[in-house]
Amino acid sequence: MDYEAVIGLETHVQLKTRSKLWCGCANEFGAPPNTNVCPVCLGLPGVLPVANEEALRLTVLAGLLLNCEIPPRAKFDRKSYFYPDMPKNYQISQYDMPCAVNGWVEFEFAGRLERVRIKRVHLEEDVGKSFHFEHTSGIDFNRAGVPLLEIVSEPDIRSADMAYAYLTALKEILIQGGVSDCDMEKGMVRCDVNVSVRPKGSAELGAKIEIKNMNSFSGVRRALEFEIARQIAVLEKGGQLVQSTRRWDETAGATEEMRTKEYAHDYRYFPDPDLLPFEPSAEWLAEVRKRMIELPLARKQRLMREYGLPAQDAEVLKSNVPLADYFESVARGSKNPKAIANWVINSLQAKMAETGIGLDGLKFPPDALAELVSLVEAKTISSSAAQQVFAEMFDTGKRPQQIVQEKGLVQLSDTATIEKWCDEVIAAHPGPVNDFRSGKAAALNFLKGQVMRLSKGRANPVVVGEVLERKLKTSASGGVNV
Ligand code: ADP
Ligand code: MG
Ligand code: ZN
Repeated sequence: MDYEAVIGLETHVQLKTRSKLWCGCANEFGAPPNTNVCPVCLGLPGVLPVANEEALRLTVLAGLLLNCEIPPRAKFDRKSYFYPDMPKNYQISQYDMPCAVNGWVEFEFAGRLERVRIKRVHLEEDVGKSFHFEHTSGIDFNRAGVPLLEIVSEPDIRSADMAYAYLTALKEILIQGGVSDCDMEKGMVRCDVNVSVRPKGSAELGAKIEIKNMNSFSGVRRALEFEIARQIAVLEKGGQLVQSTRRWDETAGATEEMRTKEYAHDYRYFPDPDLLPFEPSAEWLAEVRKRMIELPLARKQRLMREYGLPAQDAEVLKSNVPLADYFESVARGSKNPKAIANWVINSLQAKMAETGIGLDGLKFPPDALAELVSLVEAKTISSSAAQQVFAEMFDTGKRPQQIVQEKGLVQLSDTATIEKWCDEVIAAHPGPVNDFRSGKAAALNFLKGQVMRLSKGRANPVVVGEVLERKLKTSASGGVNV
């Protein structure tokens, strides 16, 4: 029988706020253990939480970026559980009235546009972090009370690769939207993975297995590949699957059972009496809406549509907002945006990487790049001379026109001079000349390169090609030795 996987992800993301959710302690990674703590985030009795408004703004912003509805009223609930990383024995979360509901994430996958629906987005507090040493354990409460977004997808994902693509798209949206830095190394994104399998074509859902607390996207993909195969194997052998929670063991490359049965009523959710319901006003929502960005996918599609960029270039720019902004600032007035994208993505990025200079440290203004492109367009300089001009303008900030003048780089289409260079090159390289004559067309490129070198990049390469070919062919058919 053919089976299909059904996957839904619960993704936890730390919000990019300066302070924690209910107190003024710093939301900061890497501080010495238990230095960013106070009675509130340590969960001492008798303290009162005060909601961090920026955390609420970022939650609603995330909801908007994920195409969600923002209900008029949300509230906070206590989720009871016992664990040393949460001394007050409940986590403040949102149960039945989250900040955002019914959205979706759209992304490209396997050459198609896919949409995964978002069931809900809610705000909760992170908990402390346990460390296990040889003989003792310790807890760091710096993370306790850090604002955490939980983004719950509908079970719309159908494969391990698609889960990976969804997470990548989600992360890009949240980073670009300023919601979270999503730094995986710092544990800012964690995922609970829900997966079941069912006979292909069936409308019913199979028993849901949840793999807890994954902290890398590639881990999610590996765990899913393993778990889907495991579940199918159980069914094929006539076995039954029951709802349960499993753990991914990275070294073993396998999931193992932690516990069966875990239902919402086990947590004894109830409204937190210390916190008011959250009812955003129209003005408040309007302020948050101002912080919305063009979604990465939308930008990619617009770059292709408006500037005629190939998908590959638009993809590079989609993932690099400052570079895309820079590109658009140059391309807006230009007749050849494709050429500009080329310069920006290749030569400019390479030079910046090589020198460590960022976009805000560039010595030349954006319109200089447009000028360079039009010099090539007008055939005033050859494309190899353009590379020299670019290097010079990157180093000195001089205008392309001036560099062309100073270096005498105006392209030569004057056939007499080019003919002379071609004769010299043909005389100096009998090997490649013979190669070409015996049918190796590629030898022409070598000879062409030699002429370009002689001309210091100034010769018009098209003319060089024509002249060379003519000379090689005539002398060959005429049997003349050069
Ligand atoms: P719970 O209330 O048990 O947490 P939810 O219905 O809220 O369950 O779903 C939690 C996550 O599990 C969601 O991401 C959802 O898409 C996913 N999910 C629910 N049922 C299934 C299923 N049968 N197979 C795979 N994923 C599922
Ligand atoms: Mg759950
Ligand atoms: Zn605190």
